[in-house]
Amino acid sequence: MDRPTIDHRGPEFAALAKECLEDIKAVFQTEHPVLIFPSSGTGAWEAALVNTLNPGDRVLAFETGQFAILWAKLAENLGLKVDMVPGDWRHGIDPAAAAAKLSADSGHEIKAVLAVHNETSTGITSDIEDLRAAMDNTDHPALLLVDAVSSLATAAYRHQKWGVDVTVSGSQKGLMLPPGLGFNAVGPKALEAAKTSTFPKGYWRWDDMLAFNEKGFFPYTPATNLLYALKESLAMLREEGLYWNVVDRHARLAEATRRAVLGWGLEIWAANPGEYSNSTTAVLLPEGVNEAAFRTLVLDKFNLSLGAGLGKVAGKVFRIGHLGDFNDLMLAGTLAGVEMGLELAGVPHRKGGICAALDYLTETRKQ
Ligand code: PLP
Repeated sequence: MDRPTIDHRGPEFAALAKECLEDIKAVFQTEHPVLIFPSSGTGAWEAALVNTLNPGDRVLAFETGQFAILWAKLAENLGLKVDMVPGDWRHGIDPAAAAAKLSADSGHEIKAVLAVHNETSTGITSDIEDLRAAMDNTDHPALLLVDAVSSLATAAYRHQKWGVDVTVSGSQKGLMLPPGLGFNAVGPKALEAAKTSTFPKGYWRWDDMLAFNEKGFFPYTPATNLLYALKESLAMLREEGLYWNVVDRHARLAEATRRAVLGWGLEIWAANPGEYSNSTTAVLLPEGVNEAAFRTLVLDKFNLSLGAGLGKVAGKVFRIGHLGDFNDLMLAGTLAGVEMGLELAGVPHRKGGICAALDYLTETRKQ
């Protein structure tokens, strides 16, 4: 990234952009276009909604955690009517609840289903393939819009095979980049819906972006230096072995983390092992422990930034991130910092969670 910024209307840039736009498709597992906005993930959320829907449309969402709530709020701010399926934040999306809602909607008023694949706030991954199957069984025409901000390049994800209409993501997680790129992977049904969408929009217009992208350009100034970085990130993922080696590395580091948590005698927040996240583990602290004080201590003593509990779980859980450019020794350092922090903060726990994680990392290296 740390190179001079080139003219984004010149041939060198066009070659870079075309390469990125083509190669990013493998990460989403799609042959259809992926749009890249100079934005955060929130911008890409908005782009997905304003290009496919009309003001006043009903959308179905699921309260899996803080990011599901934030996406729903954004939809409401845009004038959409959100039908939120309540949740306890410890489980992923229930496909049966989606099917029930869609079956009851005989007038097809629900125009889209919003699903967060990996809830970064709770460390819970929902099964998008099952959700799609449940939607298909109802023969309901709603679009499926999926947030893969923290699952892209960390968990198995198949935009095209799973029949996702728009996948939203960002640069700052599995792609190992700084924040600043927002993605929309779009399918044919979403592109069709975009032709009649009446939302007022300018910056987020897919049609303008796609027309410019054809020639390797953007309708406005792109995040040129982040595209240098994206090119390298895509090369790194390919070298490691996109797809499964990258996903397996995350799965293995996540399992080691969970073994540490159980070794400490603490509780993994996610209730269903089938929904454990490859990228984040939320840990429930014992009643009466000051979560913020614990994290502050770990930051002060070890310069290790743990994730705060967000929204409803603020003060209850802390989160260990294990995604992106991350390996065995980085995880070992992280878990050592947590274990020392638990002791120093006087959090009731058993010693040796780190040993359980190291044993697992060692054993799985032998295989
Ligand atoms: N969705 C998920 C699952 C996230 O984890 C985040 C951010 O962490 C977002 C959306 C919002 O992305 P951003 O903060 O880049 O706007």
